[in-house]
Amino acid sequence: MYIYYNELMEIKKVIPSGYCKGVVNAIRLAKDTRKNNPDDRIYVLGMLVHNSYVSKELADMGIITLDDSVKSKSELLDEIDEGIIIFTAHGISDQIKQKVIDKGLRYVDASCVDVLKTQAVIRQHLDQGYDVIYFGKKNHPEAEAVISISDKIHLITDEKDLYELNLDNDRIFLTNQTTMSYLELNDLMKLAREKFPKIVIQEEICNATSSRQEAITKLEDCDLLYVVGDVRSNNTNKLVDIGKKHGIKKVLLLQNSQDIRDEDLVGAKTVYVTAGASTPPNLINEVMDLLRSKA
Ligand code: SF4
Repeated sequence: MYIYYNELMEIKKVIPSGYCKGVVNAIRLAKDTRKNNPDDRIYVLGMLVHNSYVSKELADMGIITLDDSVKSKSELLDEIDEGIIIFTAHGISDQIKQKVIDKGLRYVDASCVDVLKTQAVIRQHLDQGYDVIYFGKKNHPEAEAVISISDKIHLITDEKDLYELNLDNDRIFLTNQTTMSYLELNDLMKLAREKFPKIVIQEEICNATSSRQEAITKLEDCDLLYVVGDVRSNNTNKLVDIGKKHGIKKVLLLQNSQDIRDEDLVGAKTVYVTAGASTPPNLINEVMDLLRSKA
């Protein structure tokens, strides 16, 4: 663990934090696609990973991110007639993949293996006649891809959704988006067992997410926790939630070092820095460097 010590303020980095294997793989695939196809148009259908700095870096290489808060992925594809489409780390629906094929476009699939594993587990249970309760985030691309698999998959975002869900099936399976909070999931699993005593549950939080969350719950002397990451990154937001639930006095999300405000540091003796799985290392280093300069 990196430790900067000063009589007044200690700056510590939470280990592990930052890039996960799925993000590293997706970025490598995108860069390789550009290298191997220097003259082709290349598009990412959505944000490759949820960090605007990564999207900017790709844009500098001529890789265009197709992202629109109004248009669906299908509508965005309607505007593309040539080139290569990269599917993001969050997974892609069969329907969108088929549309790309039907349009005669080439594609590169950067779906994370952990996302694909969860999809496979869900398909297995659907094949066995289960209704699937899926704990995820509404409108998140990972959840969108999953619920497109079948109308037997029921997205729930919180306990209220679970309370209100009525299913006419003895076979019920509960699983989750890979980047959810394990604390929230534990509460939901308890409630689900009460509501559906025969329910089958498989927790699918990926190792990268759970290890970053657990590292926060082990902090004992933290006055201020900075979480570096993009506001659209689910795993980043869940690190903020976990920090607050763990009782850390102040937990703040930073997009970059410019978001650090001196007034937040007043009275803080021990400051920790963590980062979401899609946060580039240079952003984390810049935050550490600036905090060190203030210590
Ligand atoms: S956070 Fe987990 S599921 Fe998402 S890309 Fe990283 S390893 Fe894969």
